[in-house]
Amino acid sequence: MADTMLMTKGVDEGKEEDGFIFLKKHLVNCHITRWEEDPYTYGAYSSFHLGTLERHVESLQQPEWDERLWFAGEHTHSEYMGSVHAALFSANRVAESIIQTTAASQSSLSSAAV
Ligand SMILES: Cc1cc2nc3c(=O)[nH]c(=O)nc-3n(C[C@H](O)[C@H](O)[C@H](O)COP(=O)(O)OP(=O)(O)OC[C@H]3O[C@@H](n4cnc5c(N)ncnc54)[C@H](O)[C@@H]3O)c2cc1C
Repeated sequence: MADTMLMTKGVDEGKEEDGFIFLKKHLVNCHITRWEEDPYTYGAYSSFHLGTLERHVESLQQPEWDERLWFAGEHTHSEYMGSVHAALFSANRVAESIIQTTAASQSSLSSAAV
C-alpha cells in the first residue's frame, strides 16, 4: 500500500479514545515504517524483561536536569507499553507537563518581578 494511503487509513481508523482525535485535527505528515524490510531489524523488537515493575516504568517517566529534559515513548507508559498508542499517550503526558511547568515558572518569575 502506498505511503499516503497508509497515512490516511491509519488516522481514519484510529479510535478517538486512543488519542487519535488530536492526530485527526493536527497531522500534517508522517513517517511510514516497513519493519520487515528494515535490514537492521527485519521486524524484530525489544521489550521489558521479566520482572519489570510499575515503579521501573514510573522512574522512566521522571524528568531530569531540573525539569528541562522530559521523556516520552512507549516505554514510559505502564499500561500499553510496546504500542503506538502508548507512545501517543506519553507524548500527551509530556506536553501537558511541559506546559504546566512553563506556566508555573513564568508565574513565579512575574511574582518575583513585582
Ligand atoms: C515489528 C513491530 C511490529 C509492531 N506492531 C505494532 C502494532 O501492531 N501495534 C502497535 O500499537 N505497536 C506495534 N509496534 C510497536 C510500536 O511501533 C512502538 O511501540 C512505537 O513505534 C514506539 O514509539 P516511540 O515513539 O516510543 O519510539 P520509536 O517509534 O522507536 O521512536 C524513537 C525514535 O528515536 C530515534 N532515536 C533513537 N535513538 C536516537 C538518538 N540517540 N538520537 C536521535 N534519535 C534517536 C529512533 O530512530 C526513532 O525514530 C510494533 C513494533 C515493531 C518493531
